[in-house]
Amino acid sequence: MLQVENLTIGYGKTEVVHNISFHVKRGEIITILGANGAGKSTILNTIVGLHQAKQGSIRFQDKEISKNRPDQLVRRGIRLVPEGRQIFPQHSVLENILLGAYIEKNAKKVQTRLQSIFESFPRLEERKNQMGGTLSGGEQQMLAIARALMTDPSLLILDEPSLGLAPIIVGEVFDLLKQISSSGVTVLLVEQMANSALKISDRAYVLETGRIVLEGRGEEIRTNSDIAKAYLGNV
Ligand code: ATP
Repeated sequence: MLQVENLTIGYGKTEVVHNISFHVKRGEIITILGANGAGKSTILNTIVGLHQAKQGSIRFQDKEISKNRPDQLVRRGIRLVPEGRQIFPQHSVLENILLGAYIEKNAKKVQTRLQSIFESFPRLEERKNQMGGTLSGGEQQMLAIARALMTDPSLLILDEPSLGLAPIIVGEVFDLLKQISSSGVTVLLVEQMANSALKISDRAYVLETGRIVLEGRGEEIRTNSDIAKAYLGNV
């Protein structure tokens, strides 16, 4: 579904991602693991069109997308849940979710989509008139995911969904991602919270200072103590 080949990305003259290649097949959950500053957000922002690569190709459903704008990519079915959620704290939960459908002009489609989101996220429906900023961290992450699902993406991309959440809530978020995946959405995420992410991942890549140093099955990486010690800091 997504093929990234020989991608080099930088800011000005500084190169932060060096000639990386990876792929995501339809229906998979793929995690890119890496420490602070490894280049995870840079890669995701480039895939969704917020940043331009210096070199390399990004293909989605067999079409080159590296020159596409973010809104074009949303229409094609790629949707990012950004780092730190970036919900609108002074707007209600309902308004936040509806803002996710900004490219959809058909009001009936928006209503149908909202209905199905509320079925999957009953906690958000109960809190639909509450201000976004008054939700707990875990609920805000659910809200950011629900908002992204409003355009019915085929590839959902998440930047550190576990950031700042208590371990038990992290578990809930990953369970939710597993459910979303079962409903037919392909999932690509970047994480530092290796253990929980690997539990739900089909495959994972380990990124070290802008280079992919390892690829393997999620479970294999999680349970191999040598790999864990070398690359994951026993997280
Ligand atoms: P974190 O987990 O802390 O978010 P990350 O793996 O997502 O880290 P990036 O945010 O992609 O890493 O950053 C990779 C490198 O690129 C870092 O050295 C960072 O300082 C640099 N960088 C990121 N954004 C910019 C920018 N807008 N301008 C210049 N350098 C940047």
